[in-house]
Amino acid sequence: MNNRKTVKISNEEIDQQIQYVVDINKMIKNKGFKYHIITYGCQMNVHDSEKLAGMLSAMGYTETSELEDADLILFNTCCVRENAENKVYGNVGALYPNKQRNPNLIIGICGCMMQQSDAASYIARKFPFVDLVFGTHNLHRFPKLLFDAINSKETIIEILDEEGRIVEDVPIKRNIGVSAWTTIMYGCNNFCSYCIVPYVRGRERSRQPSDIIDEVRRLGQEGYKEVTLLGQNVNSYGKDLDNPYYFPNLLMDLDKIHGIERIRFMTSHPKDLSEELIRAMAESSKVCEHLHLPIQSGSNRILKAMNRRYNREKYLELIDRVREQIPDIAITTDIIVGFPGETEEDFADTLDMVERVRYDSAFTFIYSPRSGTPASKMSEQIDDNIKKERLQILMSVQDRISKEINEAMYGKTYEVLVEGLSKNKEDMYTGRTRGNKLVNFTASEDVTGKIVKVKITQPKTWTLEGIMV
Ligand code: SF4
Repeated sequence: MNNRKTVKISNEEIDQQIQYVVDINKMIKNKGFKYHIITYGCQMNVHDSEKLAGMLSAMGYTETSELEDADLILFNTCCVRENAENKVYGNVGALYPNKQRNPNLIIGICGCMMQQSDAASYIARKFPFVDLVFGTHNLHRFPKLLFDAINSKETIIEILDEEGRIVEDVPIKRNIGVSAWTTIMYGCNNFCSYCIVPYVRGRERSRQPSDIIDEVRRLGQEGYKEVTLLGQNVNSYGKDLDNPYYFPNLLMDLDKIHGIERIRFMTSHPKDLSEELIRAMAESSKVCEHLHLPIQSGSNRILKAMNRRYNREKYLELIDRVREQIPDIAITTDIIVGFPGETEEDFADTLDMVERVRYDSAFTFIYSPRSGTPASKMSEQIDDNIKKERLQILMSVQDRISKEINEAMYGKTYEVLVEGLSKNKEDMYTGRTRGNKLVNFTASEDVTGKIVKVKITQPKTWTLEGIMV
């Protein structure tokens, strides 16, 4: 039971941050200062970077894609996988010559990785030329922290242990396009035994429905056609709110918003996928026929060790119920191989689940121990070569299934929301079906931002090709 209540940041605190935005704006006026943000990890992090970019724009910075041109370089880090962490340290270290050339360059590091114990002090020790370090719970204090970093010779470090309160009205600089993300809740209560997220993002905190609805309404007015609702476990949205209002209620309210044509969400924990939610998905005209439902393992023994709180039978039942009510739904998943103690038999159970569910696609990962999580202390860690071998086998099974599913789309016509010209396919447009499949297609006119009908002429394993009809 979650008894925590969502608390918004006070107006006074917001006013203080706005004053820092104004002060920095005055300080850098007419200097043409530029920023460059490097983002690691999930969509939540990408969306946090949109907020940092929004604050920087309000301060008067402009974005540059070139590191060399930047007056401010920010690393928004992720700690879910070890190799992402190593990459951050390597990339920060590589900036030392830049800092020597330009002592006014500000280098900052923020995000989940900084929220881990000792990460900030390690940075201060190993990379003393870094100017600013902050965590996930104080992103809204970025204007003050940056102001201090610009005016100090010391590294400014601020990591709050207590999970962040909800901050509304942070300026957001979204990529211009047809789709936008909006966070509906923060944190996670689930403590899957391999996952660091609850330790670095805190417990679940839901935004007020009216704040989300207003934001999505504004997105519709600004011309966005699709919104993706983000949260570590969106299915438990609302459980901490005072009034009974849950994720299905939110979907039905967002369904009425003019201008928004498609609603997506991620991620969903199977244990919280309720009958009401399946019904809301089926009844809503805008919620897309796509469900990302991480299974993680097909073995009941491993699911228990992962603390996932469902078993394969319950998961299969859910899939049946979803397909009964939404027959054309595309289902995708996340799978970890090589969790401590995973035997050949456990791995065979995972393959069996993949064959039974027939996922449209899957994000497959090798288990990587994260210090501070229970799984990292488990005995029977699996040999790296075995993990790699299992990953290859899993990927080849999933690729075959993805290809078969896509081949069944041959000759059929789908609604595609067009994102623009394809980056990889010359003279082709690119967009997504409601099932979230990427389609490249030819069209005789510019159809960017429109929903068009495309007939599939060439199904491939990961993408589709077609012609507009
Ligand atoms: S549901 Fe599990 S895997 Fe997902 S963020 Fe929460 S603890 Fe991590």
